[in-house]
Amino acid sequence: MALKVLILGGAGFLGSHVTDRAMREGFDVYVVDSLQTGRPENLSHHVGHPRFHFLQHNIANPFPPQILALKFHQIFHLACPASPVHYQADPIGTTMTCVNGTNHVLQLALASDCPVLITSTSEVYGDPEVHPQPEGYWGNVNCTGIRSCYDEGKRCAEALCFDYNRLHNVKIRVARIFNTYGPRMCFNDGRIISNFLVQALRGEDITVYGTGDYTRSFQYCDDLVEGFWRLVNHPTETGPVNLGNPEEYTVLDMAKKAQELVPGTASKIIFLPAAKDDPKQRKPDITKAKSVLGWEPTITVADGLQRTLAEFASRLASETTVASK
Ligand code: UDP
Repeated sequence: MALKVLILGGAGFLGSHVTDRAMREGFDVYVVDSLQTGRPENLSHHVGHPRFHFLQHNIANPFPPQILALKFHQIFHLACPASPVHYQADPIGTTMTCVNGTNHVLQLALASDCPVLITSTSEVYGDPEVHPQPEGYWGNVNCTGIRSCYDEGKRCAEALCFDYNRLHNVKIRVARIFNTYGPRMCFNDGRIISNFLVQALRGEDITVYGTGDYTRSFQYCDDLVEGFWRLVNHPTETGPVNLGNPEEYTVLDMAKKAQELVPGTASKIIFLPAAKDDPKQRKPDITKAKSVLGWEPTITVADGLQRTLAEFASRLASETTVASK
């Protein structure tokens, strides 16, 4: 019998890549997703496989008996809307998912006595006053702002993890994820890479918020999944561990790259009002991931953007075909 792996949020952009890896590794894979922002299409290639199981469920509510009855070998918790457009659409629900949801997940890990990978975020650093951000930096977060449902939700989720670890020895593996992109991103999540590439492919204007001099660092999804695998299989490391690509780009750099990637695009770069509470810069210090996990990103931004663009282009083409039928 294959070992059972549970993936919360497995129908989302990142969760579906974790699901692919778990299927390739030969596990008996249980995906739980509310389908609030996850998409069934992300998993359609596994439907019907005897080792693949799917349950639609919101983790802010207690797990149903069919999940509580199982003993898992590993748990991956990626269940939360992660883009500002999505997490701000239902901010109270976002906090409940982060806090109640993570509590339910930690109880499951306690019952299975198995490692649980928790996806935290670079958002715990808020608008950082330390650059780049090491794990020891406590952050600069506005606890009443429009991003706080996610930022403070994830900070509280981390607090819960460490208390379950201290009080009950739960094998927590906390990853702090920096901006990640790749195939299967939602087109409508308002994020920089999905917005800019889709705009360039459609010949629409590329929308830079503010002056374009804010920075972010961008990692390709496969690098992140490799980092998850090393962390969840580490015998003792609880984290938090930053997982991100330290190469830093301005928003305007990215807009120009998107233009260049689609030769002949009619897209022009336009400047719109800055987003509220938008962090000015973000770049991971990955010293800990390198030393503890032997991990660092291997896929260049040029390569990763090409792979992403190819999948976006084919998805857009099939949407157009469906629309014209
Ligand atoms: N951004 C932008 N235009 C867009 C989408 C995003 O200028 O169409 C900017 C956004 O204001 C931020 C950066 O790109 O400064 C990254 O935004 P994203 O939402 O991708 O990630 P996050 O803010 O969560 O790091």
